[in-house]
Amino acid sequence: MYFWEMKLKERMREKIAGFTLIIAVLFTTSCKNPKNQDLSNLSEQPEIIVSGDLLKTYAKVRLTTDLSQLSEREKAMLILFIKASEIMDEIFWQQAYGNKAELLSKVPAELKNYVEINYGPWDRLDNNRPFLEGYGPKPLGANFYPANMSKQEFENSGLKDGKNLYTMVRRDNKGDLYTVFYHEYFKKQISKATELLRRAATYAENPELKNYLLLRARALETDDYYESDIAWMDMKTNRIDFVVGPIETYEDELFGYKAAHTAYVLVKDEQWSKKLEKFVNYLPELQKGLPVAEEYKTETPGTDSDLNVYDVIYYAGDCNAGGKTIAINLPNDESVQLQKGTRRLQLKNAMKAKFDHILLPISEVLIDESQRHRVNFDAFFANVMFHEVAHGLGIKSTINGRGTVREALKEQQSHLEEGKADILGLYMVMKMIEKGEIEGQKEDYMVTFLSGILRSIRFGASAHGTANMICFNYFQEQEAFERTEKGTYRVHFEKMESAIKSLSELILTLQGNGDYEGVLQLTQDKGIISDELQKDLDRLKIEKIPDDIIFEQGINILGL
Ligand SMILES: [Zn+2]
Repeated sequence: MYFWEMKLKERMREKIAGFTLIIAVLFTTSCKNPKNQDLSNLSEQPEIIVSGDLLKTYAKVRLTTDLSQLSEREKAMLILFIKASEIMDEIFWQQAYGNKAELLSKVPAELKNYVEINYGPWDRLDNNRPFLEGYGPKPLGANFYPANMSKQEFENSGLKDGKNLYTMVRRDNKGDLYTVFYHEYFKKQISKATELLRRAATYAENPELKNYLLLRARALETDDYYESDIAWMDMKTNRIDFVVGPIETYEDELFGYKAAHTAYVLVKDEQWSKKLEKFVNYLPELQKGLPVAEEYKTETPGTDSDLNVYDVIYYAGDCNAGGKTIAINLPNDESVQLQKGTRRLQLKNAMKAKFDHILLPISEVLIDESQRHRVNFDAFFANVMFHEVAHGLGIKSTINGRGTVREALKEQQSHLEEGKADILGLYMVMKMIEKGEIEGQKEDYMVTFLSGILRSIRFGASAHGTANMICFNYFQEQEAFERTEKGTYRVHFEKMESAIKSLSELILTLQGNGDYEGVLQLTQDKGIISDELQKDLDRLKIEKIPDDIIFEQGINILGL
């Protein structure tokens, strides 16, 4: 079921057609409701007008999972995790915007939900375009820094702990900058959250989880996360998990210094996690079988990765803002990474939601009717999982003394590496089907793979987007698929199988040779969206395919 904006979008369209949509119009109905407290404020406010383009569309999804395998104690812990997550959400609002309640009191009823999705008046899926009149561009430093602070001022100030991940930058009475650590600035919220974490720890039967929760509570009080990150890396056997605290720095677009508070409440998918373990064991054999000359496959593939599958039952704060994350790779602390590596968590139910509400509808528009039935979630999920495993295959050091592949290929490496993981992931799938290790027909995985490309390139040129474009154009050139007269795409299975091999060979050779010029050429030739394809992608907008998903989530939704 799609989100309420449908109605609003109709109105937006009116505006585009030449009307000015004054939100006061939308209010007149709610004005009759005397209980609506917000209205008294509103009459004092200038007219609020929704400015610019259409709002984005979100499909609403219930976040649930099978909790029957969990003990009563674990269920009690989940409730406490969710309550602590709500506090992370409160803190993130402060970091991203400021006073949530005050903003919401100014916003017309029909836009409240949209403001909440975006954690402010700026559209996160539309380059932070302000969608409420009266708001300028989003400050690059969000609310981590004073809005009127320039980069130069910050750099000249030599501010103590200014570059610290865990401080807010503020101005004193004289207008001078100073810093406050999160645990001080958000003292009230942090003390509530740590109380919940410690209470949860008393329920924990799994000693590693207990240890982590206690250390994480301490970390939130001190803003020193090292010990708790190490403890999180040591968690191997627990069925529930809680990623919580200030983690990613994307919200700080000014410097990328400040970590934003976030929370994921997770339940492990034991079955899939075991399967992945089994696939990882195949890496040495698959490495030997790579379709490339011997000298490019002499390295031993990495099998040390800790890769597991989870259902996520609660998103809060940073990870719940705008586009929803479907995989986690943490911790970010490099000193922990050096010691312990990272854990990669794949969020299966969130992927399923994106599959159902975005990928499948895309395939109904763009995949040829004769092959649409081949697009299925199991194939999509396997393609994503094998992408992750396939990062371990191939080559890390050049074969001609140009150092590591990363050094040799510089800024061209990140998208080429994603392209490698995509194509070698599909190669692994083909091999696993041949061995009878995964079920289904190769054809399903190929058609689903092509649908996945069309989904990824919809929003342009991230590392994944560029990788997908290269693959799309390479496949098209090799006639791995064709565009029919109806403007749909049809896979040629035999040709796609050989294109999988030849593209794998091409990428592995470029990486092994550290061939910077070669990758640049490939990217310039093939990392582009043709006019024809762009027109096809534009049809997805007309078909109102959601831009992303939002969640109905919480203790009641889970029946806890
Ligand atoms: Zn990747």
